[in-house]
Amino acid sequence: MEESPGGPSQKKVVAVVGGGLVGALNACFFAKRGFDVELFETREDIRQAKIVRGRSINLALSHRGRQALKHVGMEEKIVSQGIPMHARMIHSLNGKQSPIPYGKKGQYILSVDRANLNKELLTGKNINGMKLMCRVNFVFLRSDGSEEQVEADLIVGCDGAFSAIRKQFLRRSRFNYSQTYIPHGYMELTMPPINGEFAMKPNYLHIWPRNTFMMIALPNLDKTFTCTLFMPFEEFEKITTGDEVIEFFQKYFPDAIPLIGVDALKRDYFRLPAQAMVSVKCSPYHIGSKCVLMGDAAHAVVPFYGQGMNAGFEDCIVFDEIMEQFNEDFSAVLPEYTRVRVPDDHAIADLAMYNYIEMRAHVNSKWFLFRKHIDNL
Ligand code: FAD
Repeated sequence: MEESPGGPSQKKVVAVVGGGLVGALNACFFAKRGFDVELFETREDIRQAKIVRGRSINLALSHRGRQALKHVGMEEKIVSQGIPMHARMIHSLNGKQSPIPYGKKGQYILSVDRANLNKELLTGKNINGMKLMCRVNFVFLRSDGSEEQVEADLIVGCDGAFSAIRKQFLRRSRFNYSQTYIPHGYMELTMPPINGEFAMKPNYLHIWPRNTFMMIALPNLDKTFTCTLFMPFEEFEKITTGDEVIEFFQKYFPDAIPLIGVDALKRDYFRLPAQAMVSVKCSPYHIGSKCVLMGDAAHAVVPFYGQGMNAGFEDCIVFDEIMEQFNEDFSAVLPEYTRVRVPDDHAIADLAMYNYIEMRAHVNSKWFLFRKHIDNL
């Protein structure tokens, strides 16, 4: 048996790289098993930060994500801070709204605040503390420029779609890797409350499908909605003045103009450039018994299936189950994790790509409504 860097009688050390959603949850899983967990994150600690930047303001938490939260005793708390969405609410061009349920009566997904979820997970039980560092070649660079050589029994790469840990895998033979940028970008806009109340029905994921592009809106606890406009980059770039923004919304999303507000639309459209979306597939997810990838570092997916974070959370639970099965023997656990997890994560990536078309084009077609009817039987 290999000796832990901390010595024969010491607890095994796990270095989790990336304190985003998946890294923070993973740290809770390892801590629950009694490992000595060190969490490395490049960003300022978001629990103290005034402005928190992330990949989206809110996101949809579904069953697979909830199961993982339940495992570390955090499901109830997170669910109590989310807003149930029982159905999609389809907005037609003429302003008509039609609900399409997500499942059977009583089933729903939850709109949760990304920053709050991340903070709750970082405050999760038994994490020794977070080190804010930037890593290069498994030597971690502190924010003051000095280096720290980290010795750990296991390095877990949870450092997102542009993972620095994954870069080390690229140097190795028989590592498969592909990445695809889709032609669409996304931009977030805020729909404020009206007279202190939600501007639209809150318990829905609102969708404006417009074939080559679409807008969606998820509710927040402060009674705002975060609207996300998905559109090819070239379309974003065609709009260069405030008046053109209004003209565009008038043509495609007329019912949203009074709800977001003319001045806010003219201003916020130009606040930040549209963001890119990438799909990443790779295999294997591990190197020997020392290093493993999880979350977006292993499988960034386009957001149209609402499953990127949920699949990353499921990675943690699957890994934990395999740890149990193989008595925490990393040399057996890591290959088994790759064997079990790669096909499922690749399937999620494919489904997300498929839903990229379905959500904006088919969601209001007769075919889609027929399929949903069959699904709900
Ligand atoms: P990230 O959230 O990217 O976190 C990675 C962390 O690693 C960051 O904190 C980063 O600062 C840190 N880091 C990076 N490099 C280093 C380094 N070198 N050293 C140390 N730390 C480092 N998923 C859903 O399930 N439901 C949704 O509704 C949903 N909606 C989405 C909407 C949009 C617009 C987008 C873009 C994505 C959406 N997703 C959704 C996907 C979801 O955001 C990701 O799957 C999720 O954030 C992955 O979490 P992660 O922890 O793996 O990566």
